[in-house]
Parts: sequence; structure tokens; C-alpha cells
Amino acid sequence: MPFIIDRLAIIGVGLIGGSFARALRQAGAVKTIVGIDRDASNLQQALSLGVVDEISGNPCQGVRGADAVFISVPVCSIPAAFQEIAASLDPGCIVTDGGSVKAGIVSSCEELLPQGSHFVGGHPIAGTEHSGAAASFAALFRGKRCILTPTANTDAEALTIVSRLWEAAGAEVCTMDAQRHDRIFAEISHLPHMVAYSLVHAVGTADAEGENILSYTAGGFRDFTRIASSDPVMWRDIALMNRTALLASIDGFSSSLEVLRTSIEQGDGAGLADFFTRAKRFRDGII
Ligand code: NAP
Repeated sequence: MPFIIDRLAIIGVGLIGGSFARALRQAGAVKTIVGIDRDASNLQQALSLGVVDEISGNPCQGVRGADAVFISVPVCSIPAAFQEIAASLDPGCIVTDGGSVKAGIVSSCEELLPQGSHFVGGHPIAGTEHSGAAASFAALFRGKRCILTPTANTDAEALTIVSRLWEAAGAEVCTMDAQRHDRIFAEISHLPHMVAYSLVHAVGTADAEGENILSYTAGGFRDFTRIASSDPVMWRDIALMNRTALLASIDGFSSSLEVLRTSIEQGDGAGLADFFTRAKRFRDGII
């Protein structure tokens, strides 16, 4: 494949940034990839694993000469990371991100955008509960969606280039309004993480008899709570940044749990069977 761009800088060479680099390298879509990260040992590991070609501990120096910059740090740090590099971007540089929340990032980054540079918000719908460059792998985005959230201000050519990069990484690109993105992902991604963390927290702290009850967990508990092993800083930031949509999702979930609780309290077998049947139908429908 001919190079889509010559030089890509990645700020945050973790699971997502590192996997993007590996996938683009495998596709031959980018000539040179420079990794930038505040964690020096992670950065060194990214270089020795061949995830990136060059590294820089200084974001302003690292982005010089880049045709595009991919910011892949926890969501509350993305606007500040953008602000730090804004004055060092080459004319025409495209900045994009992989953050799991979009509206706040898109509006902040558009405000910070220097004349002649471009911003395209993005969110790959792929991940694992692991972090860091060592956890990254080239196939992470293969066959998965990547949502881009252009606005009326987004440069059409920049959008095309970011789409082509994600397609080269194996993803299926679709576009969506940032607010709509945040509402949908509050329900289908952010709420499940809150429920998983909350369930493990509740069970882990409910061991009043000191019986080490978590040692008895088997498939069901472990399958359901895998995502509670995800990075706490990443999820702290997502909860803070998608606050409004997430609170609405939590309220909806609490109401649903309350319906279940009432049926159990009242010994309402028909209500319980109906509740579980409807939920099973939804779940079976997505497999
Ligand atoms: P990760 O594996 O923890 O990697 C992030 C890296 O960025 C870490 O090395 C971190 O260093 C570094 N970093 C943090 N703040 C920085 C800053 N201000 N400047 C430079 N480097 C910085 O995280 P990830 O899972 O790849 O997630 C990155 C982004 O992708 C997040 O916005 C997340 O919402 C999004 N995302 C994640 C997933 C997923 O499943 N993981 C899926 C889709 C999207 P420290 O360790 O020192 O903090």
C-alpha cells in the first residue's frame, strides 16, 4: 500500500496508541511513527518492541514535522495534551484522538486549534482490560468499528485521511454526532463498566464474616466482571467527562434493578420470568 501519510506522532503509546501504530505499520500505511509518552519505561518498551520507529519524551519536539498526531491518553488529559503541542504543529497537520468520550474533547480541541491545522475526533470501538505498549497488538481494530465525530468545522480532506488510516488499521469507519456518541456509549459501554466495578466492589466489601468469598467465584462472576480489571484512571476520566449521559444511564439502570428487587420481594414469579425472558431476548439478539 502507498503511504497515506509520511510521519505520524502518537501521544500515549499504550494499548490503543500502540495497537494503532502496529496496525498501520503492518499495513504499510505510514512511513515513520514517533511515539511520545510521559511514562519513559513504556516508551522505551514501545521502541524495543518495534511498535514505533522513534521516541520523544518532549511532546512539542516529538510532533515537529508530523503530518498527523494521534492523541491516545486518558480523556480528561486530551485537551491539555493538545494545548501543549498546538504551537508546535506543522501547517496542515491533522490532529485526531482515540478518546472514549467525544463531545467535551471535540469542542475543547476545536477551540484550541491553531490556524491551518485540523482536528478530527475519533473513538475506536475495540479494547481489552490491559494497558501499555506491551499489551498492544496489530489486530485489535480488525473488523471493529471506529466512530469519527466531525462537526461543521471539520476539514473534509482531514476527515478522509483519518478515515483512510483507520481503514488501513482494519476498522470499519462510521461518522456520528459527538453528543449522540456520548449518549449511546454511556448506555452500552460506560454503564456496564460502572456496574462491573460496582458489583465487584459490593461483593468484595460484603465479606463481613471474613470468609474470603471472592475465592469461590467461578465462570459467571469472572465473565461478568472481566472489565472491572480495566485501568482505573481511564475509567475515572470517562465517568467525569461523560457525567450527564452516564448519570441518566445509571438512573435508568437503578430503576430496572428496583423493578427486579420488587418482584423478588413480592415473590412475583411471573414478573421475574417475564423480566428475564425479555432481557434474554435482547441479549440473544446481539449474539
Ligand atoms: P494506556 O494503555 O494506559 O496508555 C496510555 C498511555 O498514555 C500511558 O503510557 C500513560 O502513561 C500515557 N499518558 C497519560 N497521560 C499522558 C500525557 N498527558 N502525556 C503523555 N502520555 C500520557 O491507555 P489506553 O487503554 O490505550 O487508552 C488511551 C485512550 O484510548 C483513552 O482516552 C481511552 O478512553 C481510549 N480508549 C481505550 C479503550 C480500551 O479498551 N482501553 C478503547 C477505546 C478507546 P501513565 O501510565 O504514566 O499514565
